[in-house]
Amino acid sequence: MIINQDTCIGCGQCVQYCPVRAITMTDQSFALIAFDDCVECGVCLRNSDCPTDSIEQNDCPWPRSIRVNFSNPLAEHKETRIPGRGTEEMKTNDVTGRFKNGEVGIAFEVGRPGIGARLFEVEKLTVAMARLGIRLEPNNPLTHLIVDEDKGLLNPEVLNEKVLSAIVEFTVPINRTEEVLISAKEIASTMGTVFSVDLICKVEPDGSVPVVPFINNMGIPLSENGKNNLGLGKPLFMEEV
Ligand code: SF4
Ligand code: SF4
Repeated sequence: MIINQDTCIGCGQCVQYCPVRAITMTDQSFALIAFDDCVECGVCLRNSDCPTDSIEQNDCPWPRSIRVNFSNPLAEHKETRIPGRGTEEMKTNDVTGRFKNGEVGIAFEVGRPGIGARLFEVEKLTVAMARLGIRLEPNNPLTHLIVDEDKGLLNPEVLNEKVLSAIVEFTVPINRTEEVLISAKEIASTMGTVFSVDLICKVEPDGSVPVVPFINNMGIPLSENGKNNLGLGKPLFMEEV
């Protein structure tokens, strides 16, 4: 994103909207966007109601286009044809049945508004998971940036790109939960940004959540949440019970 300095009147209205504080006011009394810090989320353009229409979308050729794909919720990834950072199935498991009995879906959500994430930080997690022999979810946009599955390496052209957040997403047998979390915890101390961990599994008929004992064993505080998209569709899968 850029600001037309010929028309900006320096009202400062746009500054507060930037989630990564990339917009500042200059001594010359116009607003300026730090180009390398901007994640191309489009929030300033959509929301700040600039009185002079001075906020303009610049061209974002590859690899800067990655910023738009991962940061602007209205952008559609050309690889997956869906907007957003992850896959739709994470929230619609009742229909798609991706996460089966005995499995846990794991997502590392790297970066957040306020800090964002460079993709070289995200790569630390993809490399760590590759060392455990884990393959990432094929329909996740981040997975399409992997150039070496065995080593978990991302395309070197995108490593310095900054995004609002990206999701490392995969499924493993539930008894591998602790192994994955121990590895992620080791990586956390090397990260220059934040990440949260999502664990997705089917709830047992008695209402218990099979992944919880693994988390409790590790002494990790747990926030138990559910997203139920009931009534949105008929199951597309049949699972043996
Ligand atoms: S809202 Fe528009 S006029 Fe005001 S500082 Fe931002 S770009 Fe300039
Ligand atoms: S596009 Fe997003 S990151 Fe870039 S200046 Fe605007 S609000 Fe900030």
